[in-house]
Amino acid sequence: MGRGIKPPGNYVAVAWIDLMAEQNGVKKPNGSANGKNPTKSATLTGRVLPPSGAPAVTNHFFPTVGGGKPFTVFDLADHLVQTEQWPAAQRAAAQLRQAAELIRFAQKYSPFYKERLASTLTAPREELTPEMFAAIPFLTREGVQGAGRSLFSTKLPEGHGPAFDVHTTGSSGQPVHVKSTKFSSLFNTAVTLRGHRWFRRDLAGTNVPIKVVSKDAGREEVSGWAAGSTGQSYIYSNRMPVSQLLDWLLIDDPHYLQCHPSILQELIHRSLDVGAKPSQLRDVRSLGEILEPGLRALCEREWDVPVRDNYSCEELATLALTCPDHDHLHVQSERVLLEILDDDNRPCAPGEVGRVVVTGLVNFATPLIRYELGDRAIAGGPCPCGRGLDTIERIIGRERLPVVLPSGDRVFPVLDAEPLLLKSGVRQYQLVQTSVEEIDIKMVAAQPLSVDEAAEIGAHLQRNFGHPFRFNFIYVDEIPREPGGKFQIFKSELA
Ligand SMILES: [Zn+2]
Repeated sequence: MGRGIKPPGNYVAVAWIDLMAEQNGVKKPNGSANGKNPTKSATLTGRVLPPSGAPAVTNHFFPTVGGGKPFTVFDLADHLVQTEQWPAAQRAAAQLRQAAELIRFAQKYSPFYKERLASTLTAPREELTPEMFAAIPFLTREGVQGAGRSLFSTKLPEGHGPAFDVHTTGSSGQPVHVKSTKFSSLFNTAVTLRGHRWFRRDLAGTNVPIKVVSKDAGREEVSGWAAGSTGQSYIYSNRMPVSQLLDWLLIDDPHYLQCHPSILQELIHRSLDVGAKPSQLRDVRSLGEILEPGLRALCEREWDVPVRDNYSCEELATLALTCPDHDHLHVQSERVLLEILDDDNRPCAPGEVGRVVVTGLVNFATPLIRYELGDRAIAGGPCPCGRGLDTIERIIGRERLPVVLPSGDRVFPVLDAEPLLLKSGVRQYQLVQTSVEEIDIKMVAAQPLSVDEAAEIGAHLQRNFGHPFRFNFIYVDEIPREPGGKFQIFKSELA
């Protein structure tokens, strides 16, 4: 789930639809799940009828759901089962049609876009071509900050509202304020259900999310953790010490765990220390930070549990989810048009690294059109699983800061020293560039690295950074998170 984008209540954010879903125990037959673990059924319980007075959603075509009538989150999730199988060309055409609807709406109702999009889609029934879309200027975080309320639409399409505020709490140091809608939240719940279907999660199972909680409680018990779920959820505060989190995890012994990768890593190490691990865990959903391949391997090795990633941003919630059959991610293309672009603003070929630029196709309260997240990613190719949704091979930089070379060049290195660091007993680390020649490696480790280990890691990182930086190995007791709970693996005091 995206952090901070929904009103209080987490999974039960979609007003009447999810609330009613939770109160309704009707089982829904489901033949659409196609993930691994075939012994577990992908139960989507709780199908409900919308209230008779609910408005139908307008200005939305991808997927066309409801046929002008109200629909539930389960109806939408059923449509997503169909659209994910569409060939890529059909899906891309549907995305452009939806983007055109958003652009026309923004031209009319968002003062900021009135001018900015004045030369886009000027004729009444003009079709939006990929070339026209590619000519739309990028929107940066600074741009969102500068636009302020002029970015917000002055009205909402029928059935989309109400709108609510989203203030990002991320680690970029550039907080932004946007508005989202109930419909966008509902859509996010539907793609979350898609993820549960892909991995055949049992919604009657128990779930532990570890996250930022506003209340003082360290652990809270609630009923239901997804639309239609009857399972128990034990919510832990990520401010609690890891020793306490693991103690609770061993007692609650959930089927599912959802947390930041940095917390997962600490939990696994703690569990190795005490010689006990959760006994019936089926998968871990990671979110909020880069999921490094080394951590995925560690979790599979030590806990025998796969890690599935949720790539999201606070402004738009879920952007991509791990493929049920492979480690790479599938863009949630019905909600977001996600581009990975090279330095010349051309789409990256599979395997190339580029900037992530997103267009939210569902949120009409604050149109985010070609919005630069500041993330970098490796573009993926067509997925052998057969889904037409775009793929992202790997997210490599949630960090907003590049490394600065002595030449003044700024580069976003692909860091893959994690397995080496893990092997050497490092539990948590952070790289901080302090000058154009020096990088501090802050580490939480059981014992200092040997001379050989330090040399090997230093040489590996020098290759990663493409420059012979001098590394200072600094041992610390803990590395604090950024405000909002994110953890940054690389920071630069120069950028
Ligand atoms: Zn796939």
